[in-house]
Amino acid sequence: MPAMNRAFASVLPLLIFHLSSLLLASCLAAPISTSTDPHPLEAYVFVTANPQATATPFQPSPNTETPIPSPTIEPSATATFTPVPTNPPSPTARPTDAPPPISGDNPQYTISALMDYANHTVTVSQVILYPNQTGETLSSLVLGVNPNLWTGVFSIYSLTVNDAPGDYTLSGQWLTVNLGPALQPGQTVKIGLTYQLNLPYSSTRHENFGYTWRQATLIDWYPFVVPYAGNGAWVLRDPHPYGENLVYPLADFRVNLTFADSAPPVVAASAPARYENGAFLYDFPNARNFTISVSPLFLVQTADADGITIYSYYFAEHAAAAAHVLEMTRLAIMTFSSVYGSYPHTALSVVETDLNDGLEADGLYFLASNFYNAFDGTVRNNLSVIAVHETAHQWWYGGVANDQANEPWLDESLCTYSERIFYEYNYPGSLNWWWNFRIYYYNPTGYVDWRIYDTGSFRAYVNAAYFQGAKFLEGLRSRIGDAAFYAFIQDYYARNRGRIATANDFFTILAEHTSVDYSDLLGSYFTYR
Ligand SMILES: [Zn+2]
Repeated sequence: MPAMNRAFASVLPLLIFHLSSLLLASCLAAPISTSTDPHPLEAYVFVTANPQATATPFQPSPNTETPIPSPTIEPSATATFTPVPTNPPSPTARPTDAPPPISGDNPQYTISALMDYANHTVTVSQVILYPNQTGETLSSLVLGVNPNLWTGVFSIYSLTVNDAPGDYTLSGQWLTVNLGPALQPGQTVKIGLTYQLNLPYSSTRHENFGYTWRQATLIDWYPFVVPYAGNGAWVLRDPHPYGENLVYPLADFRVNLTFADSAPPVVAASAPARYENGAFLYDFPNARNFTISVSPLFLVQTADADGITIYSYYFAEHAAAAAHVLEMTRLAIMTFSSVYGSYPHTALSVVETDLNDGLEADGLYFLASNFYNAFDGTVRNNLSVIAVHETAHQWWYGGVANDQANEPWLDESLCTYSERIFYEYNYPGSLNWWWNFRIYYYNPTGYVDWRIYDTGSFRAYVNAAYFQGAKFLEGLRSRIGDAAFYAFIQDYYARNRGRIATANDFFTILAEHTSVDYSDLLGSYFTYR
């Protein structure tokens, strides 16, 4: 999910209040006609103004799903309620679910971080081993430095190239390292960095990076070599008030995290830790990024999803909601592993945060405390929907990455449609509710393939890339049939896992799985196809 900037967030509640008022008025005047939609509306969905601005405004609705019994809260215990039993989908034979490229081909990030939680600083020593897999001779490398988008946050102390003092320029998020002797194809260069982060107070403007009164989060916090596009071009997109802009090549991460504080906080991270000699040690191979969130107040519950360990980090007042998140995530992993292909890692952490949304990272995702606050004990709420959505990002964003700025629909439409698949297989009685709550409420318009820069507002962007995207996928599935649709999705996942996929990859593979004409759908939903 995208974060939004502070200015926009400040006006969004007002906008949503007005929008909600208008929609409520129209709902009361006459039922919305959905004659062309495959899923007719249920009875009225009564809409109230969103109490907080989110990408997915909360809508109370009549609870016709069987309420979920309150789970037993035991640390490290699997939530005890039983969902509606269904058989996971058993699509046609899955193509070889090959693992991503072996680690030796990946850039290697070795990061030693000393956090002073009380004083909101992180001192970092980082080594990057970058193998030149581009097939071209490189005279420079471009590293993305997200923390340097803000004044006074990122201070670089040293930079070396193959252990010698390096020549570089740092401007905004661009850190350009001149390599001296050019890096030939197949050669590896070693970049050394030392720097300090003075964490900002986290607001929506900082997209969850920084600290709050009870938490500190390191996301997109270290310099990383951005993808190379050929002919001297590097893929480092401009930030935008909404939507995400970074594009992540696959890499291997080895992180050593220590604390200056006498009593270290509880640590959530993209991978499970080993704790040795006062240090949290992590290995996270074949990954997009490495994210850390810490709090002295975190509690944790765990569950197992067929060998995948799920950690749910939460604050004490939200134990029941955290258990529900754990179970939604477990079910989502089981469902998507069956529908798409195997989960990319061995664990997944869910982290409660004061960010006002959900947000994906590799091996970890964030959920807003507001969603926990509003949890009503059922599967019909933002907590459930967004937990499923962010879990799906482990396949679409983590497993298969994409250009989040220029082709955001590639992950967002698939993750939104993944919610539909989740409800279809686990809570079929809530599927129509999901269409109403998530899609039809917004009466989405716009083109699926708009970039984050192409829409006039956050709402227009989400309506297009997420919701029109889900409608397109629904139309495509109806048109070509379930067998071809699932065979295509599995093939797209298997062949692009570990890669940065493009719309061309998507449509090229789709064309291999059907001869049905869907050109009218492309004409309706896409600008460039
Ligand atoms: Zn998303």
